[in-house]
Order: sequence, then C-alpha cells, then structure tokens
Amino acid sequence: MKGYYFITGIDTGVGKTYVTAGLLRVLSDAGLKALAVKPVQTGCKEKSGSLIPDDPVEYARLNASHFPNGYPDACCRRFVPACSPHLAAQMAGEHIHLDELVHEISAKGEGYDIVLVEGAGGVSVPLNDKHTMLDLMQRLDCPVIIVADNKLGMINHTLMTIESVRNRGLDVAGVIINSTTPCIEDAALRDDNIAAIAHHGDVTVLADIPFRSNQHERDEQLIQRLSPVIDTLVPEVDSHEENLIFDRDHLWHPYTSAVNPLPAVKVRSTRGTRIILDDGRELIDGMASWWCAIHGYGHPVLERALHRQAGRMSHVMFGGLTHNPAVELGRRLVSMTPDGLDHVFLADSGSVSVEVAIKMAMQYMQADGQPNRTRLLTVRGGYHGDTCGAMSVCDPENGMHHLFSDLLPSQLFAPRPSCRFDAPFDPASLQEITRILDAHSHEMAAIIIEPIVQGAGGMRFYHPDYLRGLRQLADAHGVLLILDEIATGFGRTGKLFGCDWAGVAPDIMCVGKALSGGMMTLAATLATRQVARTVSKNGDVFMHGPTFMGNPLACAVSNASLDLLEQSDWQPKVHAIETWLEEAFSPCRHLPGVNDVRILGAIGVVEMSDPVYVPRLQKFFIENNIWLRPFGKLIYAMPPYIISREEVAHIGEVVAQAITQKQYTK
Ligand SMILES: *Cc1c(COP(=O)(O)O)cnc(C)c1O
Repeated sequence: MKGYYFITGIDTGVGKTYVTAGLLRVLSDAGLKALAVKPVQTGCKEKSGSLIPDDPVEYARLNASHFPNGYPDACCRRFVPACSPHLAAQMAGEHIHLDELVHEISAKGEGYDIVLVEGAGGVSVPLNDKHTMLDLMQRLDCPVIIVADNKLGMINHTLMTIESVRNRGLDVAGVIINSTTPCIEDAALRDDNIAAIAHHGDVTVLADIPFRSNQHERDEQLIQRLSPVIDTLVPEVDSHEENLIFDRDHLWHPYTSAVNPLPAVKVRSTRGTRIILDDGRELIDGMASWWCAIHGYGHPVLERALHRQAGRMSHVMFGGLTHNPAVELGRRLVSMTPDGLDHVFLADSGSVSVEVAIKMAMQYMQADGQPNRTRLLTVRGGYHGDTCGAMSVCDPENGMHHLFSDLLPSQLFAPRPSCRFDAPFDPASLQEITRILDAHSHEMAAIIIEPIVQGAGGMRFYHPDYLRGLRQLADAHGVLLILDEIATGFGRTGKLFGCDWAGVAPDIMCVGKALSGGMMTLAATLATRQVARTVSKNGDVFMHGPTFMGNPLACAVSNASLDLLEQSDWQPKVHAIETWLEEAFSPCRHLPGVNDVRILGAIGVVEMSDPVYVPRLQKFFIENNIWLRPFGKLIYAMPPYIISREEVAHIGEVVAQAITQKQYTK
C-alpha cells in the first residue's frame, strides 16, 4: 500500500507547510507510516555549513511525538533565495531536472504508507525553463490536496487552481481552508467562501481551520479539524489485479480469444516516447500505437487543442450543420494531399473510410451508366480494415475470407507486387495485373491498393514504378484508383504520402491513423472533383453519413496535429530515423532465424523465417523496457517521429538479443 498526495497552495503563504505538518501528525497518530517530502525548498538559511529550511519548526513542533530524533530530512533541493524554484536554482548555478526530482521523491518515499509531497507556491510555479509544478504533479500522478487561506480573492484562486489541476487529468482530493489571519471575521462571509468553492469547484472541503492568535490553541484546532480527513486519504486497496482479471474475463482485445487471451499489460499513462506501466516501468514505444502517435504521447499542443474544443463543443450532428474545426480540416487536407483531391468525406475510422471509398466507386460507376462495374481489383498481401467491404480486399489467405465467404463480395486478386522498393524495377511484376485488367475491366469499378508499403498484410515495400504503372492501367481501362494511405500517410515513409514516391495522384484516397496524432479516432476519404461530380449527377446523393461524422474534437485535434507536422522538420527527422533504424536493425540481418531486414522512412522490419511466439517475445521486450507488438513472422517498429537515436538503438539491441537468445520460440 503506497499512497502519494500532492499538497499545493492556491498561492504562496497560505499555510501549506502548516497543513502538511498537521496531516503528517494525524496520519502518524492513526498508525500509518507517513512522510512529508518537500521537492524544492527555497528561502533556506545557511547554518553551520548546511541549508536549513525556514519553517521546519512547524514540522518539528507538530510531529515531535512521532519523530523524537528530529523530523526526517525529506527536502530534495534547497536554495537560499526566497523566490521561484527555477530562479533560485539558476542563481545557485543548478538546474532542476524533472526526472531526477521524481526519482528522488520516490526514493525518499520508499517504505512509507503515505507520502505527502508539498509543492512550492502555487501550481504554475516554474521549476525550470520547460516545466512547472503542474508537470511535477502530473509526473507523480497522484491526487492533489489544495490549501487555501480564507481571505478576499480566495474563491477565484482556488477555483483556478482546481481547474488547472483537473486539466492535467489529476484528481482533486479536496480543499483544506486555513485561516492565516483574522481578516475574515464575518462568519457569513467565511461560510460563503467555503460553500462557493464546494459548489463551483465541485470539490469536497476536507477541513476548515479557524484562526487562533494563540499558537497552542491553533495547533489543537488544526489536529482536531484534520483528524477526520485521514479517512479520505488512506489509499484504497489497489484494484490492479482485480482489473486485470476482469479484463481477461470480459474484454475483447484486437484479434484475441475471449477464453484464452494473450496477457494484456496495464498502462498507467503515456508521455512522449514512453509508455508507463501500472508498476511504474517505462517502455520505449516502438509502435506509435499502430502508426498513429507520430508526435509522441501527451503533446501539449494537441492536448490544448482538445481541451479548447471540449470547452466549446465536443460534438454536434453533421447533418445540416457545420463548424470551423471540420471546415479547417477539410481545407488542410485538400491543400496537403496530391492535386485534384478536392472533396473530403470525414469518417470515424480507417475501415469506414475504406467502405466510403468503395461505395463512392460503386455509385460513380452507376451514375456513369456502367452499372455492371461493381468489382474491385487489388493485390494479395494487402490490408484495408476489418469491415465487410474492406475485408473483401484484404489478403484472401492471411485475411478473413474463409470465415466470411458468404458475406464478402468476390473481388479480383493479382499477385503481391514482386518488385522490391530497393531493387531495380522489373516491369514483369505488372504482367499478371495487366492480364486481369484486360480480361475483367468491364466488370471492375476500381483498383484499391496501399501505396508503396503493404502494412498489416506483411510490411513489404514495393517499387514506385509499380504504382505508376497501376495509375496508367487504371486510366487506360477507365477504372478508378483508390489509394489507401491510412498507414503510409503523413510522413511515415519519408514522403508526405506514399504515392508521392511515384508522383501519382489517386481518384480516391483514404487517410486515417496519424491524422489525429493518435489522440482520437478519425479518418477521411478524399475524392477528385470528377468523382464527386459524377456521384452527384442527376441530383443523386452519396449514401453514407456516420453519426459521429466530422466530430469537432477529432477535427480540432487533427488540425493541431497537421499544424505540428507542417511546422516540424518532419522530413529530415524521418530520414534520420531511417538511418538509425538501419544502424539498429542491420546487426539482425545475419542472425540465424532472420529472413529479411528492411527499412523505409520511420518503418523498420525484421522478418523471421517462421512465425514468432508473441507472449514470450512480448514479455522479453517489456522486461527490457521496449514496446513492440510482433505479429506472424514480423518484428517491426514504427516509432513516434520524436524518438531519439539512443532509443532506436536500444530497440535494436533488445530485438537482436531476443533473436540471439531465441526468445521468439515457444
Ligand atoms: C489500419 C488500417 C486500416 C483500418 O483502419 P482502422 O482505423 O483500424 O479501421 C485500413 N487500411 C490500412 C492500410 C491500415 O493500415
């Protein structure tokens, strides 16, 4: 049992230390092993060579019975100047590193039941040039107790503090009101302050400590008023195990058995390139949550966009209504995608955007007076999603065709592109698909393919000339070309879109995954003016309209994500990651059991000769602090674009170790 609480004031000088010392006392009185930690103490006095905090007297006085040998030294950093920690540190020629500070706090808290972490000043006090006290709270990920002194202006300060804390995803455990001066003598005023905070802040006022001019009386009041608070503070029994059992017994995970699932690992939070597990272990993320989290997790710009939009409007139906987030996103997508894609359909997931693309192609042919053109042509080894239309064009063997053969329309399949990305183009690779087009184009509406990278169907990279060839074939046969850029879009391959490698534009294009930077589910289907006009000929309408179409939250966060991408140096960064992945995975090339190693952009693939045993491999990866999710014969990484060279190198080392030690076998 270990409970951390962060204690912050609404401002400096509100009696935060006094209240913390009181809490420490009542927790100790209740038989708990409690500790108060002060991460940063400014305004220290120099005394016989060491820095002594100004107010340990309060701790000492209130806790003498539990710490007869003096209160344990629980200050992490001490500085003489009585000013903000960032400045005090700077004046002392030091720098406060957040990670180090968190580490020191945890080290001090080792072995205690309850740890009270006392902030400095208010929540937005800077610790260094990047972080404030809120970042420290967020890092510690614990409930927050807010100390407010009862005076004019305290409602405002307290409510602002509550809002800031909640915006970081933290719980406010409650507010403790401490009257530091007799200034509010009027009981009605004082009571109203308390009521207003509880009401507007939707918080519990845990205690109200009245002013007493006599120190002894005041201390007595403090202990008396704080005593009942501990019932709220004693940490609840950890439900970690229970939740994992419920998860195992009741929740379906992707492609997983309901009765004998692979073990799921519980995540507490994510940050930057890291996934933080429930037990505090940090994993380097090599998956970007399946291509999505290109800017890493918890990017402040994306979080701000989400909060801002949530404050205005989370959702409103798109039928007959519109809003700026959707319009802005449409404008961005039209301008950043290849020329000609001028019409945007916002869908709620990649699979749905593929359904939309297929339906567009069908309606196009009907409106064009070619109602017999209903089939799709694709290549083997593709993946386009899990809904019915999308499934019908997934690889017929790896995919789910045998299970759903009665449900799925029968499509046309050419062999998977045999031309490697990194080898000279072999025109013969287009032979079979050309033959199929010659024989079947009269019944064909569209060709659908993932440009350059076949993702979930095998992580293979094919030659841009193949895509160029398909564009010409589609034109020659009057069929539409649908490019599924859901995995490849937004820089992943080293070009903004996969099709940019070939310099071709599709008639219909699907984007998703990284579109929202991994924050929300959103996808889009773009079509050329010609496709859109034809579909809408004779007053016809396009027959699709998801309930959550154009969701404002998803659009707002996508706009922010695309802004970030455009403003970042994503292309040099992806090229650098390509080099790092090459360095990291090259040593695997010659290891026994490895069939192929291939890298393109921020995608690194180690293909084994046989399927790997995922549970063991996953366990090994976690033990070595990386997160990869192999499937079939593939161990692969597609990290966030903010990953560092060292992190990529670590992923490579662990993968090589796993292969050398045969951690991939049963
Ligand atoms: C992931 C993916 C999809 C499906 O997207 P969802 O959001 O999972 O429905 C479709 N096509 C490709 C190429 C993908 O990688």
